[in-house]
Amino acid sequence: MENCIFCRIAAGQIPANFLYEDEDIAAFRDINPRAPVHVLIIPKKHIASLAEIEEADTALLGRICLVARQLAENEGIAASGYRLISNCGTDSGQEVAHLHFHLLGGQFLGAFTTIIQE
Ligand code: AMP
Repeated sequence: MENCIFCRIAAGQIPANFLYEDEDIAAFRDINPRAPVHVLIIPKKHIASLAEIEEADTALLGRICLVARQLAENEGIAASGYRLISNCGTDSGQEVAHLHFHLLGGQFLGAFTTIIQE
């Protein structure tokens, strides 16, 4: 997609600090890291979010998890632990409408909590 920033990164039209790339998947450092290790893993094909995945994407999603595991090892956070998250839709705060997984680690990330406000 022409106006999608992650499509443009995947196509090499916008520079990024790539850590992994194959025919279907790319991984690069987040431009605004929220943890010592903050990597984004994306499918190269445009999928807007988890809400748009299809049965045919099953293998792709599995491979993204395997890439995350390998990157965690490469980045030295496999033993200390890490988090893999994908924001989906307005309430999650998703900013970029191209499916991506945040690989976060390198420090204690805190408990995963649900925020309920009256
Ligand atoms: P989300 O809020 O889940 O949509 O996350 C989008 C992420 O993309 C944010 O953490 C941004 O810092 C990151 N981001 C936006 N533009 C770029 C870019 N050009 N290169 C690397 N990361 C980016």
